[in-house]
Amino acid sequence: MPRVHTRAERVGNREELTTDTSVTIEDIIGSRIAIDEETGCWNYTGSISGAGYGMYGHKPVHRIVYEIFNGPVPGLWHVHHECRNKRCCRPSHLNAMRDSDHLSLHARERRDAEA
Ligand SMILES: [Zn+2]
Ligand SMILES: [Zn+2]
Repeated sequence: MPRVHTRAERVGNREELTTDTSVTIEDIIGSRIAIDEETGCWNYTGSISGAGYGMYGHKPVHRIVYEIFNGPVPGLWHVHHECRNKRCCRPSHLNAMRDSDHLSLHARERRDAEA
């Protein structure tokens, strides 16, 4: 897992990017988040892609939020939802893994579900 460094810095009660981009976590999720008290999921209430992922512009929200907290994720890696909730973008519910590992993880789950 590419836990290189954390880019987000706490400024008051705001998480701000310290990179070249001016996008803040507030710009992305700001008022567009509904916290599920039961699961702890941060459900994105902005636009949702056909595949079911929350989108900010052309990028999946969960991937952007994960990168803000954990640093860049290589293009071929997948940001997986440990909570199995595609609309969730809570960093602690996300986990970056190689695409091949991700595919086999879900394939195994499907097999277990059928068994
Ligand atoms: Zn979640
Ligand atoms: Zn997944």
